Amino acid sequence: MPDIIQLLPDNIANQIAAGEVIQRPASAVKELLENAVDAGATEIKLIISDAGKQLVQVIDNGKGMSETDARMCFERHATSKIRQIDDLFHVKTMGFRGEALASVAAVAQVELKSRRAGDELGTFIEVENSAVIKQEPCACPVGTSICMKNLFFNVPARRNFLKSNAAEMRHITDEFIRVAMAFPQIFFSLTNNGQQQFHLEAGSLKQRVVQILGSQYASRLVQVKEEMDYMNVAGFVGKPDTARKTRGEQYFFVNNRFIRSAYLNHAVMNAFQEMIPKDSFPLYALFIELDPTQVDINVHPTKQEIKFEDEKIVYAFVQAAVKHALAQFSVAPSLDFTL
Ligand code: ADP
Ligand code: MG
Repeated sequence: MPDIIQLLPDNIANQIAAGEVIQRPASAVKELLENAVDAGATEIKLIISDAGKQLVQVIDNGKGMSETDARMCFERHATSKIRQIDDLFHVKTMGFRGEALASVAAVAQVELKSRRAGDELGTFIEVENSAVIKQEPCACPVGTSICMKNLFFNVPARRNFLKSNAAEMRHITDEFIRVAMAFPQIFFSLTNNGQQQFHLEAGSLKQRVVQILGSQYASRLVQVKEEMDYMNVAGFVGKPDTARKTRGEQYFFVNNRFIRSAYLNHAVMNAFQEMIPKDSFPLYALFIELDPTQVDINVHPTKQEIKFEDEKIVYAFVQAAVKHALAQFSVAPSLDFTL
């Protein structure tokens, strides 16, 4: 009887692994924007056509890549951000798994241009089915531009799973906003089918929140700021009268990473308790910063789910911080009687 086990070719292994990281155009948007942030860019432009089904392009003015790195970055588990397992508990960068570009390159046609400040010429690279099909020196600005074209061109089943352009564009906008909100010191723009949808000048967190949520909120935000030894929370909640019937603008970030947490959302809801009608939702953009050893961000490839060393303390802390911020709005009925 012959042996039957074979190693999968790289491009197939990459395609399978890509399923975890790149589900839709918006997943690529998140990964490419985060790479630009990690590269120290002060300006990041996102260009989309056909809701990302045809094109997702991110242009940054970050540190760029050497010729060899520009090729290496498409390899699986290729990263400049960690060297050993211990580094996982101290990462300051958004990425560290070295999987995003390998995944993108397995399921789309990719063109990269990159140049470092010290290099006279940059590098142009074209990748398809995980293989470099063209590489040459090129003139380009300092930084990196990555074009991802025809996502899932080689995985028709997945391409068929993509939703309408309106739905995919909503996902893209969500991811864009989550990154832009966390880095107000960086200029961001989003152009969709030739029309500019966001143009976010660098500024303070409050300016960024207002740029994104709308100028009607400029005078309707309450600052949250609370510190303890290994944790602090900062950001804004809407005044109680901004609460809505639909769950809308609610953002949690841990160490600048957007996360979903029903548990922490509950802490905020609790703090608002009697100030807003039942079944309505307050708006908030809250940034928790804590010692990286207190949180595990490596529980899911998209890193939107994380594990706290001690979840209850974070809950209590967030609730207290929001309560303090809102204290001015709480009705104190007993006050009338004591006067
Ligand atoms: P990770 O971000 O987890 O390291 P990626 O696959 O996203 O993995 O990227 C691989 C590597 O390519 C990064 O570690 C980084 O060194 C380099 N890289 C990716 N995007 C950029 C960029 N926009 N500017 C400079 N270097 C980049
Ligand atoms: Mg990355």
